[in-house]
Amino acid sequence: MFKITKEFSFSASHQLLGLPPDHPCARLHGHNYLVELELSGTTLNPHGFVRDYRELDIFKKYIDDEVDHRHLNEVFGTDFVTAEFLAQTFYAWCKKNWPEITAVRVSETPRTWAEYRP
Ligand SMILES: [Zn+2]
Repeated sequence: MFKITKEFSFSASHQLLGLPPDHPCARLHGHNYLVELELSGTTLNPHGFVRDYRELDIFKKYIDDEVDHRHLNEVFGTDFVTAEFLAQTFYAWCKKNWPEITAVRVSETPRTWAEYRP
């Protein structure tokens, strides 16, 4: 099995409503998000890649256009834009473009990651 990953980043605000009012995530705040895409394959294409990293550049355009420097509650129309939600949402977007996608990881802080892996 071959596995490749590529990391992307964006900055955005969110507010997790429905939590106790004293929970820090219930307050409006922002993160410098990191997103890691993982693609896997048992075979390589004729160029020797699972997928050319350069083909993943359209994901950068997607996050730049849709989520960078935006308020995520408004972007997604929900008050539960957790790292887990973002990982699953980005996975669904990637799956339409690359069948080799196997997982998406999202980090909000230097010590935390959430992963969606069906
Ligand atoms: Zn947060």
